[in-house]
Amino acid sequence: MVIILYSILGLIGALITFMVIRTVLTKPIPVPKSEFVPNGVDKDLVAQHLSGAVQFETVTLTNPLSETDVFFKLQEYIEKCYPCIFERAKKTLINRYSVIYVVEGTDKDLLPIAMLAHQDVVPAPIEGWIVPPFSGEIKDGYVYGRGSQDMKSQMIASLEGLEILLKDGFIPKRTIYFCFGHDEELRGTEGAKQISKYLQDKGIRFEYVLDEGGTILDGKMLGIDNKIALIGICEKGYADFILEVEKPGGHASSPTRRTAVGLLAEAVYFTELSQRPTFFAKPTKDMFKALAPYMKPIFKFLFVNRDILSPLLRLVLSKAHPMTNSLVRTTITPTMAKGADAPNVLPPRASANINCRINTGETIELIHKHIKKVVGKNVKVRIDDGSVNPSEVSDITSPGYNILKKTIAEVYNGYITAPFLFIAATDSKHYYPLSKNVYRFTPFEKTEDDASRIHGINERQDINALAVGVEFYIRLYQNSCN
Ligand SMILES: [Zn+2]
Repeated sequence: MVIILYSILGLIGALITFMVIRTVLTKPIPVPKSEFVPNGVDKDLVAQHLSGAVQFETVTLTNPLSETDVFFKLQEYIEKCYPCIFERAKKTLINRYSVIYVVEGTDKDLLPIAMLAHQDVVPAPIEGWIVPPFSGEIKDGYVYGRGSQDMKSQMIASLEGLEILLKDGFIPKRTIYFCFGHDEELRGTEGAKQISKYLQDKGIRFEYVLDEGGTILDGKMLGIDNKIALIGICEKGYADFILEVEKPGGHASSPTRRTAVGLLAEAVYFTELSQRPTFFAKPTKDMFKALAPYMKPIFKFLFVNRDILSPLLRLVLSKAHPMTNSLVRTTITPTMAKGADAPNVLPPRASANINCRINTGETIELIHKHIKKVVGKNVKVRIDDGSVNPSEVSDITSPGYNILKKTIAEVYNGYITAPFLFIAATDSKHYYPLSKNVYRFTPFEKTEDDASRIHGINERQDINALAVGVEFYIRLYQNSCN
């Protein structure tokens, strides 16, 4: 008995020793000294360019056949702002409002790169705004307005950077595509998806693709004394499941024992309680692997030994914050419900929508089965047509990823980069048939307050951060196209 006890204690001791040694041996890779000299971007000029772009009310068209010229006006505007680019760029309109601009490089053996942005914005009801949402007003160091962050800022910065270089006589060796969709906020099926199809038909391949996505975070919450720039290498799947219950309708004064609304409410309740199990998808493990060497001792111990301590880490992450919870599992969220149209009517049909964001490694089919099992036979479960599986996962050893990493370290003076699983949706998922190197990074530092204004009231872009974003693109083109 005593021997068994000693053996167990010995094994535990050996395991802990192994984990400690592994932690001590994990060392950060020193970031080489930056040779990058900022170009001194004219921040007032770039702020004016963004302000002008915000003034076009390019709200996503809910009806793809709608007639509007506001997207053309935005295009005309940017073409005027950047004469050096547009005197040489070839323009192709796709599905009316989406657009591709191509700036040819001199070396045809190099695969081109693609800079993505979406022209459309979500609606902005005026209540609560301190300036009209499409005024593009410049105030207290910010450009205000819908789309000032999401994502006309990135569109403007990507163009501004190339314009500055071309004006200076830079001749890109590698061809650069600018692909601007018009319905990203409605999943990009009319815009980005059609652009991608058009390019696939032409046999185009990209060295890498860059879209909005990962942000720059303060590393403190992970015990890191530096900023972290996250590069999205995949995105979660998006699925809506419609729960439906049918029961004879009638007058609410003589109800049946179980009503459609009652049964539906029960199904919604159990669906919400039955979340999927947590697990670390490969991109999440890769993120911890990249960050662990820079962490303070306790965090470092936990994340270096993430496989052994996985159950504990997953439990903590799932409870710590809604954001960390969504990193480690598929989320299942009731978002809409409908019964009768009047208070005294028994509806013959009640329905609810369950919005799911599917973790890399799971599928729509799997979640469909899961929900069907939870709600039982009385409730029909239908998959909405717009649902998409998690995207492919991009390569983190490619030249494109390394160029991004290098550019970030240079422009942001030693910030750490890490790959990550992007929990929302972007146009970039449609570009995997064109490249296995599809990345999501938004090169603007922002406060939590500013980030929370995206899709909300008083959205605004910090002008200093915007100018640094332009420097990022300048360096990115130098590193990619020289
Ligand atoms: Zn966006």
